Amino acid sequence: MTEPVAECNIKVLCRFRPLNQAENLRGDKFLPTFQGDDTVIIGGKSYVFDRVFPTNTTQEQVYNTCAKKIVKDVLGGYNGTIFAYGQTSSGKTHTMEGSLHDPQGMGIIPRIAEDIFNHIFSMDENLEFHIKVSYFEIYMEKIRDLLDVTKTNLSEHEDKNRVPYVKGCTERFVSSPEEVMDVIDEGKSNRHVAVTNMNEHSSRSHSIFLINIKQEHVETEQKLCGKLYLVDLAGSEKDSLGGNCRTTMFICCSPSSFNEAETKSTLMFGQRAK
Ligand code: ADP
Ligand code: MG
Repeated sequence: MTEPVAECNIKVLCRFRPLNQAENLRGDKFLPTFQGDDTVIIGGKSYVFDRVFPTNTTQEQVYNTCAKKIVKDVLGGYNGTIFAYGQTSSGKTHTMEGSLHDPQGMGIIPRIAEDIFNHIFSMDENLEFHIKVSYFEIYMEKIRDLLDVTKTNLSEHEDKNRVPYVKGCTERFVSSPEEVMDVIDEGKSNRHVAVTNMNEHSSRSHSIFLINIKQEHVETEQKLCGKLYLVDLAGSEKDSLGGNCRTTMFICCSPSSFNEAETKSTLMFGQRAK
């Protein structure tokens, strides 16, 4: 029996990146074998997830299979969270962000940005939308605003529904997917400027992109609010999964024999989260 995790509906998905050039040159073995669309076998042991994505899965397939639905949920007033977990260089940032300005290479966040605005344009004209985004990182227990470098030590609070939020964090109103991408670019460049060893830093910091959607019916004044947290987790930490209603977790893995031990522990972590 596993402990219930608040009232969460958690989906755990597992994605393997291809072997990279260095791994190929070193002669690393390709470890995983894939079975059906939900099982990966490593060292004779099967690991089962809601879905397993083998190395040739495209960004579009990943998005359509598991992230697209969350956009509808959030527009329906749910809160959602999408996490990526895995060791450094296993594909977390590739999965969450990918290349922001390339239609094929775009990861989950830019696709979500496009989808949100597509939905809005096709919805009831009497609905008025206010979309705000924030971008921050947690490093050594400190919350740093990536959209205002002067805010280096923000604190977490709980609202009246006991939902955690970051107090004083910059919020930007956005009215198109391009504006969302601009905000991400801005945050990333602030992050790079502040840091001397980016690899080291990103393996120890969580970065969180928050999309806050408020809608109001112009006649009935009925309001609906949904928040979507998009989280690129630091390599090895075990974060709280509680609180929200729709949670999707990507377990990102290297296929290389060189990373076998870490990959197994990542897979175990993912199975425990279910
Ligand atoms: P992490 O954020 O977990 O440290 P990255 O997402 O930066 O890892 O990925 C490390 C490298 O591997 C990057 O160059 C990235 O483009 C590449 N990569 C990751 N996942 C894939 C994938 N599924 N297909 C192709 N390349 C990938
Ligand atoms: Mg990364």
